[in-house]
Amino acid sequence: MKTLDMRVARRWPAAEGIEAFELLPARDDLALPAYDAGAHITVHLPNGLRRNYSLCGDPSRRDSYRIAVLKDISGRGGSRCMHERVQAGDILKISPPRNDFPLNDTDGHCVLLAGGVGVTPLLAMAYTLQARRVSFELHYFARTRSRAAFLDELSAPTLSEKIRLHCDDENTDPNARPLETVLAGLAPDVRAYACGPSGFLAFLGQAWQRQNRPADHFHFEAFAPQA
Ligand SMILES: Cc1cc2nc3c(=O)[nH]c(=O)nc-3n(C[C@H](O)[C@H](O)[C@H](O)COP(=O)(O)OP(=O)(O)OC[C@H]3O[C@@H](n4cnc5c(N)ncnc54)[C@H](O)[C@@H]3O)c2cc1C
Repeated sequence: MKTLDMRVARRWPAAEGIEAFELLPARDDLALPAYDAGAHITVHLPNGLRRNYSLCGDPSRRDSYRIAVLKDISGRGGSRCMHERVQAGDILKISPPRNDFPLNDTDGHCVLLAGGVGVTPLLAMAYTLQARRVSFELHYFARTRSRAAFLDELSAPTLSEKIRLHCDDENTDPNARPLETVLAGLAPDVRAYACGPSGFLAFLGQAWQRQNRPADHFHFEAFAPQA
């Protein structure tokens, strides 16, 4: 498969345990392929592994790609390699964007449901929905505020009124079920886009069914480990 050579323009902590990487074409004459919200790239890591990462910037920006990587210490070394070896100035090979999680069903109100680092494709979707003037809300479920990525961007005036952050450690009611409460408050015809850990997605899928919501209004992507 064709690959692109990208230069790591900068890296910075997007949250505790999550590093963001801005990638620019390694050569000035290389035009970056356009992508739509929900797309991911495959990074060819310096240790030989390949890992998929969702593009989490504003898709209307055509000059760079942005990814954010959660360090998974129980994994086989892909995310650890991104955190421990990849530095600003490095050249990384990537496969061009591919989209298995497109935002193509946006009639009416959309709800974006993010669990942890699963916010990455949903952040790109938030930018697209905002640009298309589609009504939406983004609920971001995180263990703590410090582990929630891109809070600076999400709290900027352009997005902040659409964003609700739900942190486990800020929940004072032991009987509260924030995910269920959010779902129960949604209009019957709402469209949902969800991304997060497998347990989060499984819970959402079951709650969606229990509430007799249309199955084709629920779209999700799981960050499944590479075979
Ligand atoms: C479309 C897509 C987009 C993604 N986007 C992002 C993103 O934006 N940010 C991000 O941080 N990650 C993203 N991921 C996940 C990412 O590709 C890597 O899986 C992640 O970085 C972990 O890589 P790793 O090598 O550290 O761990 P891996 O070796 O991939 O393991 C990940 C987890 O799965 C478990 N595991 C490993 N192998 C198996 C197996 N055979 N059976 C069951 N469990 C297993 C491990 O114990 C570990 O907890 C995405 C994945 C996909 C498919």
